Amino acid sequence: MSETETSTPSPAPAPVAKPWIEAIHAYVPGKSTGKDGRALIKLSANENPLGTSEAALAAKAQPPALYPDPDSKALREAIGARHGLDPARMVMGTGSDELLNLVAQGYAGPGDEVVYVRYGFAVYDIAARRCGATPVIAPDADYGTDIEALLACVTDRTRVVFVANPNNPTGSFLPAGEIARLHAALPSDVVLVIDQAYGEYVAAQDDDGAMALAAAHENVLVTRTFSKIFGLAGERVGWATGAPGLIATLNRIRGPFNVPATGQAMALAALGDTDFVERSREHNREERARFAEKLAALGNFGLRPLPSQANFVLVLFEGALTAEAALEGLAEAGYVVRWLPGQGLPQALRITIGKRADMDVIAETLRTMAEAAG
Ligand SMILES: *Cc1c(COP(=O)(O)O)cnc(C)c1O
Repeated sequence: MSETETSTPSPAPAPVAKPWIEAIHAYVPGKSTGKDGRALIKLSANENPLGTSEAALAAKAQPPALYPDPDSKALREAIGARHGLDPARMVMGTGSDELLNLVAQGYAGPGDEVVYVRYGFAVYDIAARRCGATPVIAPDADYGTDIEALLACVTDRTRVVFVANPNNPTGSFLPAGEIARLHAALPSDVVLVIDQAYGEYVAAQDDDGAMALAAAHENVLVTRTFSKIFGLAGERVGWATGAPGLIATLNRIRGPFNVPATGQAMALAALGDTDFVERSREHNREERARFAEKLAALGNFGLRPLPSQANFVLVLFEGALTAEAALEGLAEAGYVVRWLPGQGLPQALRITIGKRADMDVIAETLRTMAEAAG
């Protein structure tokens, strides 16, 4: 018997993921239960507290045995009509998350850089890393997006810049002048992605001008979603608009049947229910202001609600009451909100604007806790 036959065989090698994939921290979704598994009122994922439009709920899709329209043609035409866009300059995604990932994959790879602001949307980090590119994080300006800081991070390796406007989790908003200034200073071969997931919550007079930039330039992609104001997060429908070159890239690499038939039908109906959208926007505007005012009154206890143009408020805890203790107190009271220590925000809670009665309980719970903590 030879040596090799008697020695213990070394284990068969397991598959090895790429190092840039190993470096990804999987996205942590907003929770819907407390530590003990108890169901809580969920204000952790920026879903619409009014639910979904009746018209969307009544929408009928084709039989499930059939593949959906691979091009979401009717939906693109309806969105185009609503926003004054050429449907040929649009692509639909399995949520806008898919499109954010695809634009990074289409334009960046190993050795390239993808830039976004500190306290930006968590998906940008995953999108950058999963194509092997290097994420470059620009410093914030008191939790807001700082154009100069973003531009200072741009090098000849930069391929994509992500800006959410309004931003998640901060709620901060860049006016049209700032977006235009950012675009004007970027090299024309860098893709500027303006993520308008919360665009419908922004007052019409505050339009950030990104759609107009996307219509006029080769390097601007605007993304939108049916997950937030339209109340269709479960259906996974997002879209993007931009120059034909950008759209062609995304169409090459997206899933051919990436938007299910039910999602297409419900989104089409939701788009037509302008009353529901208007009611949702108005509810959010009123309750966000009311809630922020109550929290601002707790300023001497170190609570600081950041100004928000979205359907949530990021509350900083800079006094004796910590965000973690507040998270637990709110869970006791029956609510789950978002604590984001993994995103460098152990000092903050992101609270989705819910129904008035719930926001009142939350504000009151925070007041009681802040006073007790001193
Ligand atoms: C919620 C959100 C999205 C949308 O995600 P979907 O995949 O469309 O559900 C995109 N960007 C930001 C900043 C968001 O907060």
